[in-house]
Amino acid sequence: MTLMNTYGTRTTTLVKGEGPYLWDNEGHRYLDALSGIAVCGLGYNYPALTQAICAQSQKLLHCSNLYVIEEQVALGQALVEVSGMDKAFFCNSGAEANEAALKIARKFGNDKGIALPHVITAHNSFHGRTMATLSASGNTKIQKGFGPLVESFTHVDYNSIAAIEAAATPNTVAVLVEPIQGEGGIKIPDANYLPALRALCDAKGWLLMLDEIQTGNGRTGRYFAFQHTGIKPDVVTTAKGLGNGVPIGACLAKGAAAEVLQQGNHGTTFGGNPLACAAGLAVVKALTEGNLMARVTSLGERIKHNLSEGLRNNPKVAEVRGCGLLIGVELKEDCGGLVEAAKQQGLLINVTAGNTLRLLPPFILSDEQADEITSKLVALINAF
Ligand SMILES: *Cc1c(COP(=O)(O)O)cnc(C)c1O
Repeated sequence: MTLMNTYGTRTTTLVKGEGPYLWDNEGHRYLDALSGIAVCGLGYNYPALTQAICAQSQKLLHCSNLYVIEEQVALGQALVEVSGMDKAFFCNSGAEANEAALKIARKFGNDKGIALPHVITAHNSFHGRTMATLSASGNTKIQKGFGPLVESFTHVDYNSIAAIEAAATPNTVAVLVEPIQGEGGIKIPDANYLPALRALCDAKGWLLMLDEIQTGNGRTGRYFAFQHTGIKPDVVTTAKGLGNGVPIGACLAKGAAAEVLQQGNHGTTFGGNPLACAAGLAVVKALTEGNLMARVTSLGERIKHNLSEGLRNNPKVAEVRGCGLLIGVELKEDCGGLVEAAKQQGLLINVTAGNTLRLLPPFILSDEQADEITSKLVALINAF
């Protein structure tokens, strides 16, 4: 095998998708409740996106950030409007979007005369696999073997303002958290967590930075999950769903944070290229011009309700929780075996944090397709 073993042995070869369905190379069809891990919210072969990509590929794929890129300007404008942030920087992945955020935090500190700026992040968090983002992540599994880590992160309990206050030092410049922890097992904080964090950051002069790589782009029923709360962060990062499969990430910033990076401070060859931004624009349009995000909310309620009902008497189920189409079923034991069992029944799911079944279905499901997901899962979990 000529591929590095980073993903272990994989047994299924997917070759084609249409709507919420995928096909393998033996012709089996799967209903997708994973969306390429929160990427393909519009499902597969979404006509407006496919057309935008085809048209852009005939016009201009790439030209470098030495030139004005119309599609990048337009996508920046669209994201600023939908988020209430001020400025955008484009890159190619979630980890890179968080790298940009962390560079903003460091330089924000340096500019204030803090030579050793320090960022507070949460236990059980996931921010990516580059050196800085794996160091920021509160997950020793992804750090093991890669020391020395990038310094000056302090990890504290998620959903605790007191823990953040206790970790503060004169060198603290920013707090970086997920509005809902995704990889960590769909952990939803108290409704007051982000507002209280906003107030604390304001009082201390820190940047509030939200990692919405997974929760952004309509996944929770709002464009960004922070929009459920009424507060705005200083920095928000996103990626996964933004290109619906075309690699793109973005770091959005507001106020002083939007002015930290100046000419020569940061950059990337591919970031914000015409193809990726044409795709991103088609995605933002699809999400904002129709009722798709309201549909995410109602589909999410339907799925959660059906799962809660179907699993009500199952003593192995700890909790069904979620927001929009980011849904977790926490079991009281490891449930990795459910992934293969579901696949045998033509359903693609994921298990994260060992014991939490994670559903991230595409937004374009019909009610019948949503019900097929829940009835299959209820039967599988109750037989598990
Ligand atoms: C997936 C994810 C990342 C990393 O994104 P990549 O594109 O894989 O680098 C970072 N943060 C969160 C919350 C994620 O879900």
